[in-house]
Amino acid sequence: MDSAADLEKIKECGVVGSGGAGFPTHVKLKAEVGTFIVNAAECEPLLHKDKELLKNYPDKIIDGLKTAMELVGAYEGIIGIKGKYKDVIDLLKPLLPHGVRIHPMRDFYPAGDEFTMVYEITGKVIPPGGLPLAVGVVVSNVETLYHIGLQKPVVSKFLTVAGYLENPVTFEVPVGVTIREVLYGAGVERPDDKTVLLGGAMMGKVAENLDTPVTKTLGGIIVLPVDHPLALKYTRTSGSSIRVGKAGCDQCSFCTELCPRYLLGHPLKPHIAMRSLVFNRQGTDPHMGSLYCCECNLCSLYACPEDLDPKLVCAESKKAIFDSGMRPENLGSPEAHPLVNERRAPLSRLMRKIGLHELTNKGPLTPYPIPVLKVTIPLSQHIGAPCEPVVVQGSQVVKGDLIGRVPEGKLGAPVHSSIDGMVSKVTKSAIVIERF
Ligand code: SF4
Ligand code: SF4
Repeated sequence: MDSAADLEKIKECGVVGSGGAGFPTHVKLKAEVGTFIVNAAECEPLLHKDKELLKNYPDKIIDGLKTAMELVGAYEGIIGIKGKYKDVIDLLKPLLPHGVRIHPMRDFYPAGDEFTMVYEITGKVIPPGGLPLAVGVVVSNVETLYHIGLQKPVVSKFLTVAGYLENPVTFEVPVGVTIREVLYGAGVERPDDKTVLLGGAMMGKVAENLDTPVTKTLGGIIVLPVDHPLALKYTRTSGSSIRVGKAGCDQCSFCTELCPRYLLGHPLKPHIAMRSLVFNRQGTDPHMGSLYCCECNLCSLYACPEDLDPKLVCAESKKAIFDSGMRPENLGSPEAHPLVNERRAPLSRLMRKIGLHELTNKGPLTPYPIPVLKVTIPLSQHIGAPCEPVVVQGSQVVKGDLIGRVPEGKLGAPVHSSIDGMVSKVTKSAIVIERF
């Protein structure tokens, strides 16, 4: 296939960045760069679905990588993966095409943050407010490359279910199945009695409604007892965090000194954001550096000795700045801090700090054990405009059929049916399909 046909195929299949906000991949791959990085770092504690994908489908992922490298014109491809995954590295090495190599990474958090990874691998600092493109790099995650290699509509999601359950597991589930069903499949009998984090222990969000559907971008589910210290941190209210932060911050600046973006030379200083609380609720005089916070949570869950929540304050400041119409500026390439390598947060220490040290990172790829009778496919699972339905109530569909297309001239990615069945409901936000 030629480049235009490859891009069209990726677009038709609805491939999006599966590890983040879901940026449409066919748009990302219109770039021209020399270096293509595969983000296989998986730094979130207990999550490892990319490792499982690499173990089970290395050929498809390499095919996807070769296509992606050709599209952007990259002369080198680099797979950034934790050095501790020696079995996966050994499996991949003989399969690597010309120009592709493995970069074994140290076991720290957040090694998978795009800015941190690009610095670790290339020594270049992406400017604050910039993209990897600014330093001649495109970064893609493993599952996205798998879908490029597969050349089929994206109708399933790989995710790890881990935490306090008997048998942690990695599943491939149809897009649109509920979180509750996935938990039942993983053997969690009373999911309503747990705190469930969607996305990971560090950057996840508490699942407010277990009947919401799995989307193309969910990478993991963490199950915690409701009285686990990490669960309690996630469920404390923003108001109480701000009140405690006002009184409790002693301005030790550990949050700043360990912040991965500050360590890259970005103008982000969470202790300054905390200081502003003394004078106001953030918003009237927010710390402008908050715009460059990636919300990795390291300051709140690892650095702060007072158990305060500088990440929340930075996130709220960022929101206030955005709401006022300001946008990040591209400030040019700064210099990384001279101690950036010494100040990394080792995963083992982080796990102890957040109370997950008694758990091990396990859970092989296992067939999902429950028949899926109904799916709810959101029309917006990506950055850009929501899809427009192309089916109506009563339409019969088979797995892989187009059910929602991108509005003419808009950024987005189409959505497809993930099971065979009949459309039972079409709303502005989702399409429900039930098996015959
Ligand atoms: S680490 Fe905690 S106590 Fe120290 S400056 Fe930051 S928020 Fe304040
Ligand atoms: S969450 Fe905290 S540590 Fe992470 S980038 Fe933001 S300020 Fe820095």
